[in-house]
Amino acid sequence: MSDLPTAENVLAAGGRLAAESARYTGFGWMRGTSGNLSEVVTRDPLRLAVTASGLDKGELAATDVAVVGPDGAAVAVDGVEPLVPSAEAGLHARVAALTGADAVVHVHALSAVVAGHHWPKGVLLRDVETLKGIGRLAHDDEVLIPVIANSQDMVELGDRFEAAYDPRTPAVIVASHGLYTWGPNLRRARHVTECVEWLLSYAIAIR
Ligand SMILES: [Zn+2]
Repeated sequence: MSDLPTAENVLAAGGRLAAESARYTGFGWMRGTSGNLSEVVTRDPLRLAVTASGLDKGELAATDVAVVGPDGAAVAVDGVEPLVPSAEAGLHARVAALTGADAVVHVHALSAVVAGHHWPKGVLLRDVETLKGIGRLAHDDEVLIPVIANSQDMVELGDRFEAAYDPRTPAVIVASHGLYTWGPNLRRARHVTECVEWLLSYAIAIR
């Protein structure tokens, strides 16, 4: 069954994206105008509400939102001002399509970039309590946070993500760039982001 995104749904998502973006800005993970968040508005056809391009993520309003399709290109919705979506919206859509997640987070957390530098083949973690925060086990569970090479081409980046994707691990590091995480909703995706960022800081601290 297909449905279409309504302005009401898009602006409600925009309000949630603005509130979450302000939190991430407070954490120092969306410096300048970097980073972007998205929420799936409809699945069939796939439509995402994504933070608009080039704005300070600490100062977003509910209307600072764009709607994109599966390739990250903007899609018009009646009653929603057609803003330019983030250039990275194409990877958000790919993550949402592949993982089934309804919320995708992308931040430029320093720990993710440093960890990607130290462990370009992936960050191996085990026997840490905080692994429970990303749905894994605190003991005897080997967790690899994948690291993929950066690209400005979202199709290429999406292909790298797909090749590295492990359904048990809701995060991927893009080398020299930042972190993508996802979850069934923005709150859960934030908890995952906070825990992954903590785990990466921990891995760097004990290396
Ligand atoms: Zn980025």
